[in-house]
Amino acid sequence: MPFGFVYQCNKCSHELTVSSGWEFYIDSNGARKRYGHLGRSAEAKQAGVKGFTAEWYCPKCQQIKEAVIAEFSSPRNGPLDACLAYSDPAVEHKDFLAVCDKCGSILVEDMKSLPCPKCGGIFRESGRFMS
Ligand SMILES: [Zn+2]
Ligand SMILES: [Zn+2]
Repeated sequence: MPFGFVYQCNKCSHELTVSSGWEFYIDSNGARKRYGHLGRSAEAKQAGVKGFTAEWYCPKCQQIKEAVIAEFSSPRNGPLDACLAYSDPAVEHKDFLAVCDKCGSILVEDMKSLPCPKCGGIFRESGRFMS
């Protein structure tokens, strides 16, 4: 289940949300797509949950970027199955370090005290995000 944090600049109120736990599937062309919770497609259901992505902050690009953080060796039946399987040591999965697909920097989830790209202020946690 996706969850995360909302950060807001203490000067200009610029707001960014970092989140993780987004289920994805691999479509028939081998492309990675978001599984979706409400608008779940028949294609997604058929393919099953292949893993999870995160949308974290790239300090170099100063943008939120998406990266794969975990992948199952075989797809799971749905978000609940994927969630349970992730913490089950009997189910094989790989964890990945989240890196920016553009510059290769390591993405950060904790944006506290990072400088705002717009004004040089500082980010503070202003809320929680849950999907
Ligand atoms: Zn700012
Ligand atoms: Zn980057």
